[in-house]
Amino acid sequence: MDIFDEIYAAAKDGFKKTEQAAEKLVDKGRINLEILRLERKLKKAYETLGMRVYNNNAAGVEEDKFILMKINEIDLIKEKIEKLKLDNEYVEYCEKCKNCGSYNAKEETVCRNCGADLTPFNKAVYSVEFDSDNK
Ligand SMILES: [Zn+2]
Repeated sequence: MDIFDEIYAAAKDGFKKTEQAAEKLVDKGRINLEILRLERKLKKAYETLGMRVYNNNAAGVEEDKFILMKINEIDLIKEKIEKLKLDNEYVEYCEKCKNCGSYNAKEETVCRNCGADLTPFNKAVYSVEFDSDNK
């Protein structure tokens, strides 16, 4: 390896790292935007729920399925926000799943979101098995 090969290799490596860092930044931005959108949705759901409770109380309505529906909706939104916040933490130091794009801790062997195998070795073995089944 001469000096030019070394420079080329270093530049290539640096470029790859920069590219990965840029991709992570984009992913974090996308996740943060989605969190903001969901937090706005959550606030609106709380407002709708509060207004409904107030109106029911004023009108003497005791049973209202809408309230249960709203509570379920709020729980779902909160769950999504928690998952995205975890994704955001994971982006910093984790591997990206090639199947679904979720970030996973480096020690994980299967994707926590889609269940895809994260070990390159197993992936190769499975794809060979899969191909031979299809022939
Ligand atoms: Zn995945």
